[in-house]
Amino acid sequence: MGNTFGAGQQSLYLSNGGTEVFIDVLMLAVSDLVEDVWDCRFAALLTLQDQSIMGRGAVGFNLEDIDWGTTPQERSRSRDFVLCATTLAMSRHRWSELDYEPPFAQNYLRQFKDMVESFVPADAFHGTGVFPGLDERALACCTRHRILSALPHWEGCFLCTQPR
Ligand SMILES: [Zn+2]
Repeated sequence: MGNTFGAGQQSLYLSNGGTEVFIDVLMLAVSDLVEDVWDCRFAALLTLQDQSIMGRGAVGFNLEDIDWGTTPQERSRSRDFVLCATTLAMSRHRWSELDYEPPFAQNYLRQFKDMVESFVPADAFHGTGVFPGLDERALACCTRHRILSALPHWEGCFLCTQPR
């Protein structure tokens, strides 16, 4: 059992363990890059991929479910943020803070980056209820780990809450 991250005909299927690794390394990069409100909504989407809360094999998202923005400028800025975070994660950013070695993470990230690069967000977005709204964005930053979390839903960041 696993989870799928998709875009149109493309998809990245990861095992449950692989999903955890993929989200962890992406979250470490996203936490250090957030500037805009949109970035915090994307961070909240990542916190929702926590299988210890949502259920094993019950997560994943499609790029079509993301509200990339209403103008071409907004959409391109949002996409750049995700690409930038993915690239930073691929450079093994803060991997030393994980208590495990993620051997396949760069491969997952590369596939995800390819998918985002070739994805063209639609002009009109029709909410699917997947992408966190303004009031659901990740605002809290765990002081111990300097990683964003989506309080009040989560008690802390993924390093605080995930049993290893
Ligand atoms: Zn923490």
